[in-house]
Amino acid sequence: MSKKRTVIVLAAFLFIAFLGAFFSEYELRFVPNKPDLRPGENTPDPKELEGKFELKGGSERDNRGFPQREIVDLVSQFPDLFYRQGPPDEKKVALTFDDGPDSVYTPQILDILREHKVKATFFLIGERVKLFPDVVKRMVKEGHVIGNHTMTHPNIVKLSNKETVKEIRDCENVIKTLAGYRPALFRSPYGSLDPEKVREISKLKVKIIAWNVDSLDWKSLTAEQVKSNILENVKEGSIILQHSSGSEEENLTGSVAALKDIIKTLKKEGYKFVTVPDLLDIPYKKKV
Ligand SMILES: [Zn+2]
Repeated sequence: MSKKRTVIVLAAFLFIAFLGAFFSEYELRFVPNKPDLRPGENTPDPKELEGKFELKGGSERDNRGFPQREIVDLVSQFPDLFYRQGPPDEKKVALTFDDGPDSVYTPQILDILREHKVKATFFLIGERVKLFPDVVKRMVKEGHVIGNHTMTHPNIVKLSNKETVKEIRDCENVIKTLAGYRPALFRSPYGSLDPEKVREISKLKVKIIAWNVDSLDWKSLTAEQVKSNILENVKEGSIILQHSSGSEEENLTGSVAALKDIIKTLKKEGYKFVTVPDLLDIPYKKKV
């Protein structure tokens, strides 16, 4: 190859690499999990959203690492209070979605669930419930179950008992105004809990719901990765964890894209999709 041709080939290669980098950056910039700020009916004012769309304890990426082993320990220590799966003898599974509502991913998830006639369980953050009330009303109308995921998504083990109780109470009060009930199901942000906090939370007459299949979708995985994390680990009675929103840097596009195939595949394998209270045969509403 002549010197000139080598230079041209090299220049073309660099140009293509530059274009690739530019467009992937471009896409990344346009799909983060920010609240949808496009004007529309009931869209909160951007000023109103500022600071309120944060996860108080930080992103999942910085906080996760609470091992399944500790969840298993808590389940065996508090068998009537702390659950991570349903009965292993029936082909039933429960889809659960944390950290919503938002106006980007949650409505897409609701569309897919409606199309496939699947009811799921959403663990909602109180501050976001206030921002997107219409999305919450839609969940209730379409037959999904709502659980409590605290008011501001703090790391519970770092809070005092008093602060913990306030986080859960505030969230249930906000949910009550829209859903008409106080959730009897609670999921701790980041899954983070210890025996002392479990005892304190039990006084609030809620059951604590963990999971035994983690999609790890908060790592902004591709649809293929989310699918294999779920389908390779699912079994009878599984409680599956996905997110319907997250912190700003979490991209849940892959998780949403995987959902249809996950539902189709599991239905083909004979699984029935139920809500967490149906799977565990426990109430989802508090009596008062
Ligand atoms: Zn969460």
